[in-house]
Amino acid sequence: MKFENTLAFAKQLDESDSLKHFRDKFYIPIINGEECIYFTGNSLGLQPKTTQEYILNELEDWASFGVEGHFHARQPWLSYHEMFPNLLTGIVGGLPEEIVVMNQLTVNLHLLMATFYQPTKERFKIICEAKAFPSDQYAFESQARFHGLNPDEVIIEVGPREGEYVIRTEDILNTIKQHADQTALVIFSGVNYYNGQVFDMKSITKAAHDAGAYCGFDLAHAAGNIELHLHDWDADFACWCSYKYLNSGPGGVAGAFIHQKHITNKNLPRLAGWWGYEKATRFQMEKGFKPIATAEGWQLSNAPVLSMAAHKASLDIFEDAGMESLWAKGQLLSDYLFFIIEELNKNSKEKLIEVITPKDAKGCQVSMLMLKKGKEVFEALKNNGVIADWREPNVIRVAPVPLYNSFQDIWNFGNIVNAILKM
Ligand SMILES: *Cc1c(COP(=O)(O)O)cnc(C)c1O
Repeated sequence: MKFENTLAFAKQLDESDSLKHFRDKFYIPIINGEECIYFTGNSLGLQPKTTQEYILNELEDWASFGVEGHFHARQPWLSYHEMFPNLLTGIVGGLPEEIVVMNQLTVNLHLLMATFYQPTKERFKIICEAKAFPSDQYAFESQARFHGLNPDEVIIEVGPREGEYVIRTEDILNTIKQHADQTALVIFSGVNYYNGQVFDMKSITKAAHDAGAYCGFDLAHAAGNIELHLHDWDADFACWCSYKYLNSGPGGVAGAFIHQKHITNKNLPRLAGWWGYEKATRFQMEKGFKPIATAEGWQLSNAPVLSMAAHKASLDIFEDAGMESLWAKGQLLSDYLFFIIEELNKNSKEKLIEVITPKDAKGCQVSMLMLKKGKEVFEALKNNGVIADWREPNVIRVAPVPLYNSFQDIWNFGNIVNAILKM
């Protein structure tokens, strides 16, 4: 599509957008008396207007039934979490039995590493991206120490080449090859939180398996954002949070994927809890853990229903909108944002913004390395009702998301930045 840098053109794109009505399903925060331009759906997604009602239903059922709500709530709590796998299959590309909603993201990362990171004298290395999200770095480091190993000898990071911002797939694959005999686990994010790069998960998984290692993904910035086919890619495991693109509220309940080929293997090491125990005999409360032969076998605790109610409210909207439409609009929004940023550079004598997100491997996020006036631009955006995200030393992350952002949002953003840069 040939883009134009005019309000009329942006309006026209909005007019022909089949998802345009979904914006009305969300509360848009108000700044200076007006709806803000919200570009941080990659950090905390907005609240669906239905969320309160979904949570209220559970509070009412708790008030009415007390403990009997486990059986008599409109959506009985005993099996509450069982609604989710079907709603998430299209989002992560997994079979229902491979998916479970539980805990929070870093907890799930540790639980899955407890299963899939089993270092031996020969194989003990973890290959990951450089500058992974800090929580993941701490998880990898503490896992190494937990096994009595030195993180410096365990963790192999693949970073961008000198002078580049994107990690090349060939460099990832070569690093895996190079450490093939010693690698226990390859773990990457689906989308890097900083530069918005989408990793080639299919190729990374294949290279990990060729090396004889397990392969897992942290999909915090990928779930509800980019197209995912975890099952077909043969990923061993994955985990994600629900409060970024999945709009399920601060600290919301997270998700996990364990590939079909592993879920029935009762001998895999794992950290167990009663909610992962075979359902038929769980309440006999006997000694000897017998895992459920699905991803549910990794559950520890009974379901956090209030947080799950918020998750359900949001996933019903995703179901309504359809992932294919969301993926397509997400790409178009980002493409338009790339274009608008190019226009900003074109309109000035010198280059002001270096986009560090790869155009051909992106989701809904575009990261702008500010070569000039970074903090000023960021502050001015805030004062003009635009919520974006600042990352040290000088990156502004902008994430237009298909459920509630418009092409007009992007044009307005460009217009505001242009005015600041001209001053
Ligand atoms: C957001 C994010 C987290 C946050 O972890 P929580 O356990 O949900 O606090 C972890 N890892 C990545 C890659 C993230 O993007």
